[in-house]
Amino acid sequence: MIDINNLVCKHILEMKPYASARSEFKGEALVYLDANENTLQAKYNRYPDPFQQKLKEQIGAMKKVNSEQIFLGNGSDEAIDLLLRIFCNAGQDAIITLPPTYGMYKVSASICNVENIEVPLQDNFQPNVELILNAQTDFTKLLFICSPNNPTGNDIDLEIIEALIKDFEGIVVVDEAYIDFSSQASCLGLLKQYPNLVVLQTFSKAWGMAGIRLGMAFASVEIVKVFNKVKPPYNINELTQEFALKRLKNTADFEYDVLAIISERERLKSELQDFYFVKKVYSSAANFLLVKVLHPDIIYHYLIAQGIIIRNRSQVMLCEGCLRITVGSATENELLKTALYNFSILNKDEKESIIPR
Ligand SMILES: *Cc1c(COP(=O)(O)O)cnc(C)c1O
Repeated sequence: MIDINNLVCKHILEMKPYASARSEFKGEALVYLDANENTLQAKYNRYPDPFQQKLKEQIGAMKKVNSEQIFLGNGSDEAIDLLLRIFCNAGQDAIITLPPTYGMYKVSASICNVENIEVPLQDNFQPNVELILNAQTDFTKLLFICSPNNPTGNDIDLEIIEALIKDFEGIVVVDEAYIDFSSQASCLGLLKQYPNLVVLQTFSKAWGMAGIRLGMAFASVEIVKVFNKVKPPYNINELTQEFALKRLKNTADFEYDVLAIISERERLKSELQDFYFVKKVYSSAANFLLVKVLHPDIIYHYLIAQGIIIRNRSQVMLCEGCLRITVGSATENELLKTALYNFSILNKDEKESIIPR
């Protein structure tokens, strides 16, 4: 059995956390003169709840997870950064990532001066368990698995994820930013069994709240305690907490959006396959499509000239020749298809003059 405290950096275990006014006194009082706020103002003049109790209770009820097993971050990107700082000693430890995958794991590792060991996915975009386990050293503290994976869009097999959680001797972070679009079960169900599992989810994708910056990490109580120790005291602002609480009460809109986006995704997938320059549209369990095309750079620049922005992933390992396209509204997807049709009827010279020199 993994002892979490053996994995947490020594200096983090030993440090004394900042004690904010709002964390020292809990309960209701008549007059608050403890935080140097401007008490002449009436709205948003007070510091927010540092531990977001109300919001966590609501999220916990929705996800069937104890609220003590939830950390909320300024986007799940904050959780990624804090995981690096909690578990990885700068200039010594390492993380393992499985490219092609989400770019922030590597960026956060660089910022923290932590080595990023890359064990590429196989051709079927599934992890190679043996290679990953062989890449372990005394210094590999975190393994990042993104499922559904960005930018490939596929689910990572649950049996593979569980095998890795069992045998990896560090923390396994399963980034489920796109899980709401997938028909595969979330790894939240594995939390009870595995104290070394951290599941990341976000309100930025299916929930449509990328602008308020709110991400979730679900983990054992021990890990959440360390998150709370190192996080900036008021990392989730009052406007965000208030807005999220309001939106979470309306799950009907959320469920409608998810179904609408999935149905648009499948429609767009089949329509894209008809273009002569589309070699393959990969199956997606997310809200984007990975599309392998002839002349990716030309198409990318043509679409920009038409005011349509997608991601050019053609230089990414295992995604050679691929574009990543977010599934938009029916109207937006129509505009995309019209632009691609107009591209398809250009002659060779016209196509070759598209890329700006
Ligand atoms: C978009 C995305 C995130 C970022 O989520 P925020 O909560 O907006 O920070 C995390 N992981 C993956 C794989 C993503 O694609």
